[in-house]
Amino acid sequence: MADTKITRRADDYARWYTDVIAAAELADYAPVKGCMVIRPNGYAIWENMQRALDDMFKATGHRNAYFPVFIPESFLAKEAEHVEGFAPEVAMVTHAGGGKLEEPLAIRPTSETIIWNAYRNWIQSYRDLPLLINQWANVVRWEMRTRLFLRTTEFLWQEGHTAHASYEEAEAEARTILEVYRTFAEDFMAVPVIAGLKSESEKFAGADHTYSIEAMMQDGRALQAGTSHHLGQNFARAFDVKFQNENGEQEYVYASSWGVSTRLVGALIMAHGDDRGIIVPPRLAATALAIVPIYRTDEQRAAVMERLDRLTAGFAGFGFHVDDREQHSPGFKFNHWEQRGVPLRMEMGPKDLDKDQVVLVRRDTGEKRFVPQDGLADEVGRTLDAVQAGLFRRAREFRESRTYAVDDLGRFNAILDGDAPGFLHGHWCASVECEDRIKAETRATIRCIPFGDAGPEAPPGQCVACGGASERAVVFGRAY
Ligand SMILES: [Zn+2]
Repeated sequence: MADTKITRRADDYARWYTDVIAAAELADYAPVKGCMVIRPNGYAIWENMQRALDDMFKATGHRNAYFPVFIPESFLAKEAEHVEGFAPEVAMVTHAGGGKLEEPLAIRPTSETIIWNAYRNWIQSYRDLPLLINQWANVVRWEMRTRLFLRTTEFLWQEGHTAHASYEEAEAEARTILEVYRTFAEDFMAVPVIAGLKSESEKFAGADHTYSIEAMMQDGRALQAGTSHHLGQNFARAFDVKFQNENGEQEYVYASSWGVSTRLVGALIMAHGDDRGIIVPPRLAATALAIVPIYRTDEQRAAVMERLDRLTAGFAGFGFHVDDREQHSPGFKFNHWEQRGVPLRMEMGPKDLDKDQVVLVRRDTGEKRFVPQDGLADEVGRTLDAVQAGLFRRAREFRESRTYAVDDLGRFNAILDGDAPGFLHGHWCASVECEDRIKAETRATIRCIPFGDAGPEAPPGQCVACGGASERAVVFGRAY
């Protein structure tokens, strides 16, 4: 197990990304193009993401269920926009059990159709609503250009599918979940996001409208980190799901759906990583503290290990690992844990024993401090909180430094092809023609029409493309 060389970000960002994944042993390419093997270090991050999100879903009234991976081909065709949007990416099973199937089966690209087919039997009256269900599952979308975590043919995700008695209730649900996603991204991943509405051409196939959270990566590109869709009555109509309302009338059910995926692991790498590797925010780290004992003689080793046993007895509040491997030097171990993104390292040698102190080294800043052993658990906890807050602050400052107010389409490419590309806040007249033209000329898309304090202000202005009237600025960027 040698040190893994990581390309510098400034030299080749794409290469840096794959090097970081290899060095931290997060994932491998699989035999089938576009698929990936998620290794234990990568899966541990996903598990912690799942745990935090699942708690938040349950706290907002949702329950988990599971629906089959196979969907009859005819189901996908029932919602016209939906099938048009997904058809090119769907993998079909045509043969099974030694023969050709009567009807091909889609491997789920998303589960609206099979879930709404089931909801037809579950919903009769307003008393059956709302129905608030989430599923943790894998999905398959046949992607032509793939990258580990960011875009893979098969990925893991959660998909929420809710049913409501009114448009307003479905809207409130879509917004509640968007806020759950924003909170998760900012408080757990330490990644600042802009929450807002997608344009018509960027919305989910089959939705009335789509909301998203958008994050900025260190190369200035945008990453859509989560989406929440208001589906209106589209899927209820397609699957004939009606309920009797309080006035005794039959009405189609209103719906939302929403999801985040293993793509978030990629976002985490690209938002916080440095030239030495990934940095995992403490709240998502399986190992928050790596402990490296330092000694030369057997006698020193015994004394150091004995003290460590005593100190770590108080470390119940966070995940820690004592790296007592005999065959590796302390320097090797420092590098090992740095590359794996462990947010805090503790060292203790014979001199520290004499002084009743330890050394704490932050992964994000490299700051090294001598800390008394008395009250150590509290100090480790405080330092981990400081790393968590520091990562968020650094990412937000970076985003601010890479955000430009632009009133002229002519400036887009100069910024996006320059040394410091990022988000462009500019006005848009809401026409598809201008949106298409901007995309064709600059490869920038409308990331979202923001709301809340993360976005640009709302005074009216003029469209960057045609000069027409615009109600508020939107966020443009080149995206992953
Ligand atoms: Zn325009």
